[in-house]
Amino acid sequence: MHCTTLRAALITLGGLVLAATLVHGRTFAQNAPAAAAAPQTDYSKVQEISTDLGHGLYVITGAGGNTTLEVGTDGLIVVDAQFAPVYLKLKAKIAELSSKPVKYLVNTHYHGDHTGGNADFAHDGAVIVAQVNVVKRMQSPPPGANGQPGRPAPAEALPTKTYTDRMKLSVGGQTAQLIHLADAHTDGDTIVYFPTANVLSTGDVVSSQSYPNIDVAVGGNIDGMIRGCDEVLKLINDQTKVVPGHGHVTDKAGVRTYRTMLVTARRLIAKEIADGKTEDQTVADMPLAELDKQWAVSGGPFVQRFPRLVYRSLKGS
Ligand SMILES: [Zn+2]
Repeated sequence: MHCTTLRAALITLGGLVLAATLVHGRTFAQNAPAAAAAPQTDYSKVQEISTDLGHGLYVITGAGGNTTLEVGTDGLIVVDAQFAPVYLKLKAKIAELSSKPVKYLVNTHYHGDHTGGNADFAHDGAVIVAQVNVVKRMQSPPPGANGQPGRPAPAEALPTKTYTDRMKLSVGGQTAQLIHLADAHTDGDTIVYFPTANVLSTGDVVSSQSYPNIDVAVGGNIDGMIRGCDEVLKLINDQTKVVPGHGHVTDKAGVRTYRTMLVTARRLIAKEIADGKTEDQTVADMPLAELDKQWAVSGGPFVQRFPRLVYRSLKGS
């Protein structure tokens, strides 16, 4: 039986409040900031919504990062697991789209809004797949933004199939190509390309509607984010459907626009550093005010943090 009463513990991350929730008697710590704008998500109100991308590919949105589903004739590949408390809803939505079992769950990186459902997927028979650094980060996550220690994920939530640079997964008639992007959003980022449907899932290296998070504490870096976008742009064409970690499905033009924002932000923050400004002085100067008009409109926890994360990237701290 699944526990229907969810006990939420609050974790505050630099003004952002997230929920770590007990499901099936296991505690899932959300070590990393999520893109959820609400101070505390009421998971009972979350709806899982699917969009058909063609050729057996779907994007499913619920609570946490976007989930991508690839349907093969004998099994399914799922990319990203959302937050733990919505697992049963996500499972039900996947079952609506295919009766086949989930063979692989790919984590694009270690953050809790992409790995929260790991243990439940594994319990139901999926093999958890990720770049090798994800295991390390889930076992010993960095402290939260407010300095509180990170909480290690339970053993059953850890990826058991790992790779270093590239890996291919197959389910009947369909493949998924996993490509590692170094030191971008984290040190363990994976993008997943589905050639049959010409769909690319980028995890949090690409964001379509708001500033991204950059997890500087684990090697994430603005320059790596820009390089990551370059690799994405090399890989895709004008017809590719791009599923970002958060936000609506976008395309090559959307990735170009996003990359331009990253490059502009980097230049503006680098100028503040060259002028001898501290991080707080840089934030007070509001060098990104023009970019904010497009990229800060949706609010969210990273709007205030983004200039700080770029600053820290460039300072190498
Ligand atoms: Zn993330």
